[in-house]
Amino acid sequence: MSTLRFSAIQETFDHKPVAVKEPKRRSEIFGANVFSENAMRQYLTKDSFKSVMDAIDKGSKIDRAVADHISTGMKEWAISKGATHYTHWFQPLTGATAEKHDAFFETTGNGHAIEKFGGGQLVQQEPDASSFPHGGIRNTFEARGYTAWDPTSPAFIYGTTLCIPTIFVSYTGEALDNKTPLLRSLQTVDKAATAVAKYFDKNVTKVHATLGWEQEYFLIDTALAISRPDLLLAGRTLLGHAAAKGQQLDDHYFGSIPTRVLNYMRDLENECMLLGVPVKTRHNEVAPNQFELAPIFEEANLAVDHNSLLMDVMDKVADRHNFRVLFHEKPFAGINGSGKHNNWSLATDTGVNLLSPGSTPMKNLQFLTFFINTIKAVYEYEELLRASIASASNDHRLGANEAPPAIISVFIGSQLTEVLDELEKVTNGKLSPQEKTELKLNVVGKIPEILLDNTDRNRTSPFAFTGNKFELRAVGSMANCAVPMTVLNAIMAQQLTEFKESVDVLIKDKKMKKDDAIFNVLREYIKKSKNIRFEGDGYGEAWEKEAAKRGLSNNKTTPEALKAYVSKKTIKLYEDLQIMTKVEIEARHEIQVEEYAMHIQIEGRVLGDIARNHVIPTAIRYQNILIENVQGLKDIYGNAFKKHAGEQMQLIESISVHIAEINKGITDMINERKKANKIDDAEKRAFAYCDKVKPYFEEIRYHCDKLELLVDDEIWPLTKYRELLFTR
Ligand code: ADP
Ligand code: MG
Repeated sequence: MSTLRFSAIQETFDHKPVAVKEPKRRSEIFGANVFSENAMRQYLTKDSFKSVMDAIDKGSKIDRAVADHISTGMKEWAISKGATHYTHWFQPLTGATAEKHDAFFETTGNGHAIEKFGGGQLVQQEPDASSFPHGGIRNTFEARGYTAWDPTSPAFIYGTTLCIPTIFVSYTGEALDNKTPLLRSLQTVDKAATAVAKYFDKNVTKVHATLGWEQEYFLIDTALAISRPDLLLAGRTLLGHAAAKGQQLDDHYFGSIPTRVLNYMRDLENECMLLGVPVKTRHNEVAPNQFELAPIFEEANLAVDHNSLLMDVMDKVADRHNFRVLFHEKPFAGINGSGKHNNWSLATDTGVNLLSPGSTPMKNLQFLTFFINTIKAVYEYEELLRASIASASNDHRLGANEAPPAIISVFIGSQLTEVLDELEKVTNGKLSPQEKTELKLNVVGKIPEILLDNTDRNRTSPFAFTGNKFELRAVGSMANCAVPMTVLNAIMAQQLTEFKESVDVLIKDKKMKKDDAIFNVLREYIKKSKNIRFEGDGYGEAWEKEAAKRGLSNNKTTPEALKAYVSKKTIKLYEDLQIMTKVEIEARHEIQVEEYAMHIQIEGRVLGDIARNHVIPTAIRYQNILIENVQGLKDIYGNAFKKHAGEQMQLIESISVHIAEINKGITDMINERKKANKIDDAEKRAFAYCDKVKPYFEEIRYHCDKLELLVDDEIWPLTKYRELLFTR
């Protein structure tokens, strides 16, 4: 083992478990650092409190004078908790979170100072934010962007800073973040779903989307992680031969959690409790050093904020434990990558989960209505849903022979398939009394409250029904959940609106009973959306062929997938629902294709550097040792040396071949990069990076990895897979 690698591994032994102080009961500290309803009751006047609650429940505006009261209360609360600063906390299109801290502290001019935080500072800020991605919406002469308070997501204290969740929009009102479109989509799906839910219960006045994400990640010792330039700069290994042992024994999955890791998790969960992030589940994942964390689901906007916050907290807590968190979707070749399952459903303000079967036929008809509409929505907009999870890093998972394929399909399990098959036979038009009884008793009435069929079994499906919610499994581990959630809410809103129109027409024009009308429309939807339903193996080649026959999209790369974002169909959808304008959509597309090209560009540079500065020089060093050896043998044996130096000669030859191939690969790749960089059009540039530059990665890597196997372990400088994945 090289001294470099040895000292990195040596360092991991110095990283002992950090002691974690935990309360006896977590419930005692839950939300302690959140300006929660309880805290608001304590620190706000009755009127201010009501004003915030109305803003949360009804979306009503908060009066400026009231905002002053609220900010004062919030400040007092924050200071009582040790906060010295405040920040608007938002999610620009970089995918990360952004913050700029200001002190409460202000001088009064007479040598004194006070703590101040006015309503204006709470409600709106104008960060000099010209360096955030904006896709051309903000010209540099109009670089102003506004952050505006989102009262539906409570303020919280992290460290000594009061963080106020905000949206981020341009001076002219266009969304520059992930939250704004999400909030708009939540409003539209509320409206559409409430109207449909009223068929079943007149008391429903609001429907909100729920989200429970499951965050997968790798945890690598800091010393090992920073010993790899690729992990450091690209977040993933760009080369490295597979370890002799990988995940084939499945001995990591659900295994006992290593002590150091467990201490990290406990520390992290502690922080989450204080911040009101309801994390509940932790376990080892399939790949070595891969783990998962999942919360109790929440209202979608809050859940999205909590996931963004969590990722930030995970990094910070990891520092204390000398770990690096890898959020990348594919940090290591040959073993599983990471995703972020998004469990999604709709819930009413009367406390009903609309995707949960009930105890009566009527409740089940409601369930079926929302269930079938979801399937239909995904059928209509599968390409947009695929686009919403596209990124350079997620391309390594989707369609690359592991967890969810790039083809979007819906898995519902055998029990519900039977129910839909029965419903498909419903008579066209009015239902006879017998048929109705039959339906209610034997089809709808038969759906058990708890679906026994373990729908979770088909892990290859990107969008699976799991008993009382749909689970979008194709989301990347690095992604901001707001993006796919916006799409799901939007397509569902559109679908439910159409559904209601069709049902109402049948009731009004055809004089049908409500149930008959609903059955009739659902029957048509079942027939129409059949092609999106797939119960088989989503990884197989057979499915690719079958899906193509069914007319489903199979966009394997990000530039290809993102086209659906700017299609006429998407623009119409978003404009109709007032979620985004054409300008906003096109700006977003531009940002994403640009980001894609830069991502591949960085990876290409890092790979080129490592291959030329680490791999080739090391290979030459080893080759020189071999040459010396051969020379020596020649000295001893004269012309008969070949008999003794056969292996060495072959090695010398192989090393030369690999070095030549690597050099050629890098040179050609750089040429393609140069060509790509000259392309002005951002989308075309992304395609060039995808189709012309990226293919060299595999080729270069192949030869580097071969050299890793040939070269003396004593001098190989890069920490190997077995060391990265099995040391802790
Ligand atoms: P698993 O998928 O590991 O079997 P569960 O099915 O219990 O685990 O839950 C996974 C995630 O789904 C959790 O975060 C949970 O809170 C969330 N979840 C459960 N019900 C809902 C719902 N109605 N809406 C959204 N998320 C939900
Ligand atoms: Mg799950």
